[in-house]
Amino acid sequence: MAKWKPTPYADMFDRVRPSERFKILSLDPFVAQGRLAMAYRYFAGPVAGRFFRELRDHRRIMGIRCRTCGTVYVPPPSVCGQCFEIPTEWVEVAPRGILESYTCANYSLPVHPVSTPVIYGLVRLDGADTNLIHLLGEVDPHALRSGLEVEAVFKEERQGNILDIHYFRPLDEA
Ligand SMILES: [Zn+2]
Repeated sequence: MAKWKPTPYADMFDRVRPSERFKILSLDPFVAQGRLAMAYRYFAGPVAGRFFRELRDHRRIMGIRCRTCGTVYVPPPSVCGQCFEIPTEWVEVAPRGILESYTCANYSLPVHPVSTPVIYGLVRLDGADTNLIHLLGEVDPHALRSGLEVEAVFKEERQGNILDIHYFRPLDEA
């Protein structure tokens, strides 16, 4: 059997900047251009499943602690990103915390769950060691700052997903 030889284009792939690689791929006769549109269901699994059930049924934000390194993750992963242990210790964290960072989008995309302006924040909930990304609401975008205290506002009708938290809003500073 003849030994496979890379095409000149494939051979070039590793030598060009990552930003140029799509151009190379588009020249390669072994690469077919196409577009996929598939309906699918994502299985949340036991860890994210419990996280979502707690939001839906108890308005509780649960994290998970790795017993090896002690990191408390929110949202909870099935594997610790620090030491690759499987965290098993569930801990409830506060529905409030500190706004670590934020961004405001003034354009619409189908993936945005709300209309513009869409304000996303990174929230470090009290009791967590990681940041939760979520929407911010009831806030003037110009009044945002890192370090702001925020709290979760839950929806009345909850469905068992991350948007059961409607958004985070600033705590009254009075
Ligand atoms: Zn760990």
